[in-house]
Amino acid sequence: MTDFVIPPPPQPSVAVANSEARFPVRRIFCVGRNYAAHAREMGRDPDREPPFFFTKPADAVVDDGAIVPYPPETANFHFEGELVVAIGKGGRNIAEADSLSHVWGYAIGNDLTRRDQQLAARELGRPWDWGKAFDRSAICGPLHPVAAIGHPASGEIRTEVNGAIRQQADLKDLIWSIPEVIAILSRSMELRPGDLIYSGTPAGVGALQSGDICMVAIERLGSVTTTIGPPED
Ligand code: MN
Repeated sequence: MTDFVIPPPPQPSVAVANSEARFPVRRIFCVGRNYAAHAREMGRDPDREPPFFFTKPADAVVDDGAIVPYPPETANFHFEGELVVAIGKGGRNIAEADSLSHVWGYAIGNDLTRRDQQLAARELGRPWDWGKAFDRSAICGPLHPVAAIGHPASGEIRTEVNGAIRQQADLKDLIWSIPEVIAILSRSMELRPGDLIYSGTPAGVGALQSGDICMVAIERLGSVTTTIGPPED
């Protein structure tokens, strides 16, 4: 038994549908601009870019139903509804044809973003972390095991704020499919069990305010609801 000088941090985890057990989170990878209409609304040409990635800390995960305080140091706090892929079997240089066998399950995610910080960083050639990797920035609903739902490659993805539809697209509109994303990511990083991949958001991203209720739904996966609370003292 290792003797730690301070108590070790708790293992971050996400819920599993119809189970008391939870899925331990190791790392969070996110794909940037993976729907053409969203790439265009962010001022980029979707046709010329290979996929790129950014990360969030594992302990940024937040369960369905939570209240997330309006985060500090932003005046433009955005929702991004996304399909989340949970890796159950690790690997390097995973072949695209074999990549889905590495998936444990799928969940609905909301890649919360301090858009003003992200765009300022982009402008200045600085890292995106302050825009993307802040506390409680990774909403993740219950994971649905592949054994129960298979591999969703199409189906509606929809985000509502206070009941009004803000994003509405189909998973088949992903520029880079889930098998492609896993194969490409595993060339740069050895994937490990517990890794989550946020697969990108459709067009329609927008701002949230304290008091807003943000719901993301994906066909066959149900929905995930987050309430934005007042800023913390
Ligand atoms: Mn995103």
